[in-house]
Amino acid sequence: MVTASWRRIPRLARPLACTSVTSATERREQLKAVYEQARDCTRCPLHQTRTTVVFGSGNADAELMFIGEAPGANEDKQGLPFVGQAGKLLEKLLGEIGLERSQVFIANTVKCRPPNNRDPHPNEIEACNEYLRRQVELIEPTVICTLGNFSTKLLRGDTTGISRLHGQPEVRILGARAVRLYPLYHPAAALYTPRTLELLRADFHRIPELLALGAPEQPGAVDEEVPEPAGEEIPEPAEQPAAAEPADGTADEPAADPAADPAAQLGLF
Ligand code: URA
Repeated sequence: MVTASWRRIPRLARPLACTSVTSATERREQLKAVYEQARDCTRCPLHQTRTTVVFGSGNADAELMFIGEAPGANEDKQGLPFVGQAGKLLEKLLGEIGLERSQVFIANTVKCRPPNNRDPHPNEIEACNEYLRRQVELIEPTVICTLGNFSTKLLRGDTTGISRLHGQPEVRILGARAVRLYPLYHPAAALYTPRTLELLRADFHRIPELLALGAPEQPGAVDEEVPEPAGEEIPEPAEQPAAAEPADGTADEPAADPAADPAAQLGLF
């Protein structure tokens, strides 16, 4: 069954630029532009207590995207998502299916740390939703893994919990595109509960199968013949190589200097 969500969420007063994406380079540039808006964001009270806006990081051209809950203390300090213990587990599980962080994009439902790691409030999730919506729209992933209850409920637009949904992929319409939504337990929940880790690992190991299915059928997709360009062909610009992640533990590193280059905080572009 294909279900549409994200349609009911009201748009914010200042809409973020919305143009169609035509190349990886353009995708990346547009994502940086959204990040530049997000890094000064004051749309919800979390801006008063955050150190850094944790926009998300990874490959702007990723087929696979992960959406967690909210930054914790390490993330707030470094400006990167999933760099604490839960992040290490996420990286380990990625490694088990032959992937690295630099091949996926990782974001959260809210981009600023809730004080004392409390749950994000509905008004904070709603205020941040347009950033997440634009990230999904620009990256155009084939598979989105929601990690835990918050992102699962947000993207599915209902209150069914993760223990009922984990490991069950479904095709969902998000904005204008169909994606394979795949709810997973949050890695933090698996850190100290062996049974949850077992379930998370089993679900995780099915990600390659889902990726192999490719993109689901798109709404209103028509088989059109694309006409040959009349003039000289302009070659696509060469893609930038992805920067390597630091190999050592990152929890104590200082925050990236987002003022220097927005791509630096985006981690791996
Ligand atoms: N937990 C999350 O949900 N997100 C992070 O970035 C880190 C921990």
